[in-house]
Amino acid sequence: MKNIQIGTICSHSALQIFLGAKQEGFKTFGICLRKKQFVYEAFPLAKPDNFMLIDDYEEILDSTLLRKMIDNNVIIIPHGSFVEYIGSKSLENTFFIPIFGNRKTLEWEGSRKLQRLWLEKAGLKLPVVYNNPSEIDDKVFVKFSGAKGGKGFFTANSEKEFYEKLNKKIKKGILRKEDSTNPFIQEFVSGVRYYPHYFYSQFKNLGLSVREGFLEFLSMDKRVEPIDESYRGLPDSLEDFYDYTVTGNQSIIVRESLLSDVLEMGVKTVDTSINLFPPGILGPFSLETIYHPNKGFTVFEVSARIVAGTNLYPHGSPYSFYTFKKPISMGRRIAIEIKEAIRKKALERVVS
Ligand code: ATP
Repeated sequence: MKNIQIGTICSHSALQIFLGAKQEGFKTFGICLRKKQFVYEAFPLAKPDNFMLIDDYEEILDSTLLRKMIDNNVIIIPHGSFVEYIGSKSLENTFFIPIFGNRKTLEWEGSRKLQRLWLEKAGLKLPVVYNNPSEIDDKVFVKFSGAKGGKGFFTANSEKEFYEKLNKKIKKGILRKEDSTNPFIQEFVSGVRYYPHYFYSQFKNLGLSVREGFLEFLSMDKRVEPIDESYRGLPDSLEDFYDYTVTGNQSIIVRESLLSDVLEMGVKTVDTSINLFPPGILGPFSLETIYHPNKGFTVFEVSARIVAGTNLYPHGSPYSFYTFKKPISMGRRIAIEIKEAIRKKALERVVS
């Protein structure tokens, strides 16, 4: 309990996680690709105190390295790249290092089917799903499981256009044939994208009371994708701009009158998670939403861990100042929760 180190893979939101942990007095442990170490050496305040260098992410499940993490008394903070590189199945069965949050959450997040069930049961408005390309009767958005960060996603207005675009992407090498066999076809939702970042705390009475815990709304971002800049090709639209791969994040706030919706969506997501996979979601999560004045908020995904959009706010966001007296990032918020759990001798309530 005295020498716990906060660790994660050096990628995604690691700088923010390490800085936040250091601010709260923890030592930090970075699992880092040898070729990426210089990136983390470049930021003295956010570089991990200890590096565990690897050549390939597959090595993380090696028993000697797992032993090393145990010997270093590490609690792992799972982020997007962590879940992707290790896989939710291995996280559940092989990765026996303590992780922050409820492990079952990652399984629910990792499956589109389970995610939809969760959000449906929460009563959130979701995009219509088409089970087969032959059902396409309106503009749709097409996704694939193997596609990372929106790569290869496209829109179509008919079954014919669907197959034309799909085949073209496979031919160009943008999509792998094996990944394209299981398309996820959704209603194309128009509007403005908002990604609210929440934290569900077991200890601190700072946010909205939900069951035994408290829901804090910390910040919000909007992703940046080549499609957002497609106007730059005008008057001719260049095909390369029709790309939804996430390349960065922008800061954003909502009209204050919409905060009630944002908070209600967060409350419902937490409340339902407790019913579906107790003790439910713990710590950070985010909803991927599109708002249109005629339709309200549509939620197209939940990220049940820290999201990279929080990297915009290492010193707090326009919203966190309404909750905390000092600058609090999501990374630091996680460290505060772990510190509080240690103080209360209740680490098992936030670590699994
Ligand atoms: P993965 O699903 O592999 O985790 P991801 O989370 O990066 O990838 P999404 O966030 O689902 O992918 O989608 C990427 C982008 O595609 C979004 O930021 C948004 O611009 C667009 N998008 C996704 N779903 C829809 C939709 N139903 N309607 C309109 N645009 C959408």
